[in-house]
Amino acid sequence: MPDSDVFSERPSASGTDGNSLRETGQISFARWTPSPNFGPRPDGAGISLLVVHNISLPPGQFGGREIEDFFCNQLDHSAHPYFKTIEGVQVSAHLLIRRDGALVQFVSLLDRAWHAGRSCFEGQEECNDFSIGIELEGTDDTPYTTEQYRMLAKVADLIMTAWPDITANRITGHCDIAPGRKSDPGPAFDWRYFRSALEIVRGSGRNV
Ligand SMILES: [Zn+2]
Repeated sequence: MPDSDVFSERPSASGTDGNSLRETGQISFARWTPSPNFGPRPDGAGISLLVVHNISLPPGQFGGREIEDFFCNQLDHSAHPYFKTIEGVQVSAHLLIRRDGALVQFVSLLDRAWHAGRSCFEGQEECNDFSIGIELEGTDDTPYTTEQYRMLAKVADLIMTAWPDITANRITGHCDIAPGRKSDPGPAFDWRYFRSALEIVRGSGRNV
């Protein structure tokens, strides 16, 4: 079980509530790092799914600015052999949570980011159309940090308040909407721990 003291703080002090987030699409306490890799959502596509991913560049190395550079099409592809393999790839996510819990935003939540690729959730294809994508800096097999779970729960709470169609069972992993093709966030992501943390965050302020 998560330590409820760690997770029970409501995000209202941030100044972002569900209504304003629904209008602006920007999380007030995120570092805004705009990516060109996005487009409009199709007409009528509501926001009804949250997709959890992981990324690290180079794989397994944390703390550099390569993820931001990659999502902004500014990665120096000569800097590492792995970067050659992703040259020309244009992708993005709405949000990134660094190892220390810092939040970076690349695309307005109102827009369609390019994180899911070919994908299907409960029979509905093209998950980018109707989802929000959150990357955790990490790998499939490296335990995520408490700070990351804390920020993910906080942000998920904000997003669920703004878009109530995103219920707890419509928070999923990339591996679940692109099985066989994608493995993130991997076995290192503790879904039970996260869901317990989310319940604490969602519940605090309503109970007592
Ligand atoms: Zn992914």
